[in-house]
Amino acid sequence: MQPLYSVNVPNSANDEQLDGVVRLVSRYFDSAAVLVSGTGSARHIWASPGLSETRLTRIIGISETTPNTLVWPLQAQADTPLGTLYLHFDQPHQLDAKQREALQDFAALALDLLVRAADEARQRHEIAALRDSERRMALAISGSGTGIWDRNVATGEIHYSSSWKALLGYAEHEIGNRIEESYTRVHPADLDYVRATIQAHLDQRTEAYEVEHRLRCRDGQYKWVCSRGKVVERDKHGKPLRMVGTTTDITAMRRLSEQVQLTATLMTDLTNEIPGMVFQYRRQADGTSAFTYVSAGAQAICGLSAMQLMQDAQALTDIVHPDDRKAFIDSFQLSAEQLTPWHLEFRVQVPGREIAWCQGEACPRREEDGSVIWHGFMTDLTERKQIEAELQAFATTDFLTQLANRRHFMCQLEAELARLQRSPEQSAAILMFDLDYFKTINDRWGHNVGDQALRHFAGILSSQLRKTDTAGRLGGEEFAVVLSEANLDKARNFATRIQNELARSPILHAGEPIFLAVSVGISSLNASDASVEAALSRSDIALYCAKRGGRNRIEYH
Ligand code: GH3
Ligand code: MG
Ligand code: MG
Repeated sequence: MQPLYSVNVPNSANDEQLDGVVRLVSRYFDSAAVLVSGTGSARHIWASPGLSETRLTRIIGISETTPNTLVWPLQAQADTPLGTLYLHFDQPHQLDAKQREALQDFAALALDLLVRAADEARQRHEIAALRDSERRMALAISGSGTGIWDRNVATGEIHYSSSWKALLGYAEHEIGNRIEESYTRVHPADLDYVRATIQAHLDQRTEAYEVEHRLRCRDGQYKWVCSRGKVVERDKHGKPLRMVGTTTDITAMRRLSEQVQLTATLMTDLTNEIPGMVFQYRRQADGTSAFTYVSAGAQAICGLSAMQLMQDAQALTDIVHPDDRKAFIDSFQLSAEQLTPWHLEFRVQVPGREIAWCQGEACPRREEDGSVIWHGFMTDLTERKQIEAELQAFATTDFLTQLANRRHFMCQLEAELARLQRSPEQSAAILMFDLDYFKTINDRWGHNVGDQALRHFAGILSSQLRKTDTAGRLGGEEFAVVLSEANLDKARNFATRIQNELARSPILHAGEPIFLAVSVGISSLNASDASVEAALSRSDIALYCAKRGGRNRIEYH
């Protein structure tokens, strides 16, 4: 059912005519006539002149025909009634056939006028609604920094909305309506691109037209805009006739994105200059993981480009040295579970390169989606590891002979004793060596030759050692060896071999051979030994016996 919008609106075009109809009916039947349309507050009443308010109220209160009042619904066939015509006589009154016919004609006329009034009201309402929505859209568009244009492609005319002009700071009359003029406002550097993009759309190569470019404002400055449009009318050959679109100010957005870009570049530059690899690594709740950022240092650290690592995080695990891989995986797991910093020294084996040491440091953080994200870096540790190894060697090795120094030898001896105490069924032997009449060598040929003799003897010792044995220089021309898993017999054999080798290979000085000899004291290292010093002093006692017994001898404790 259509509502009767403005039949109740006075002064409508039909108002006069409906009043006329009521007057006509009133005069023709010599009675009071009332026409009512609508209901409630939307009700409108046209009544015979001179009808008092009391009588009018009474008449329109009647719902069905009575002897005095004829109630005639105004209704187009099955439609809902648009109104009612009341014909009221002071005395009971019967209409004859001619009068009924006339009333029918009046009613048809009134109905027709009511229908037209209703249509007119509906149209007025629709127009008002349309205006409202148009005003809302215009407000919304101008509020969003957007202007509208409408171009007649055939004539080259273009019209801009006020908000479009305002966007560039122009007043209403300051902008022409020729497309050629509009191109003069496009930044020269963008012009070709803009033209080509529009042409592509005019030629139906694109669904719509969209391009970001700069437009010159009234003050001569350029603004970045996003221009979007579409051909809305073509002739039957597909030739474009009309195109409409919008222009949006994106200067602020561009500025923001340029700033973001600058920040990103700065970050990349910074991280790329840092020796080592800076990274962001994310492990999802489902266990999948990826490097979300990797600096250029990836190439130096793991022989992979940043891009390769970001595409495949597993590539890093693959080059971790097999012996360190488990620790590598486990350490990340632990860091993820406990959200503790990740710290690990591990080796990487890049194909075609020597094994390198890496140090990794990263801080984990749990994200709302359950994933864990690390920020950290990996640096090359190889050089530091080498220095450490050199320092270690420096601290544990006797410089002249390159054997273990006294302190290190004692440590090795401690370790051997501990091993024995864990497996008491095993045995070990300690041998002490002291070169015979060494002072004489120094005295006769000089200190350098003495040194040469010490190195020579150390070389012989080393050549006879197994991996599990240790030899050390305890001081001066005194040496010691601990033979792992050896009883006294084996120790004697070892000592004999050393003596034989020494006798067989004299050192040479100015072409002359200088023969060396050594005395050896042997004792066993026992699980029951309270200290290594105790065991060592037993060998020392045996050595003393060897010296006293005439030198170049082997004695047991
Ligand atoms: P013995 O047969 O009783 O062992 O007599 P020896 O001469 O070998 O023993 P002694 O302890 O009298 O002399 C050891 C000498 O070793 C004394 C010292 O000058 C010398 N010596 C100690 N350290 C070095 C060294 O680093 N280089 C050289 N060339 N000589 C050293
Ligand atoms: Mg000595
Ligand atoms: Mg000596």
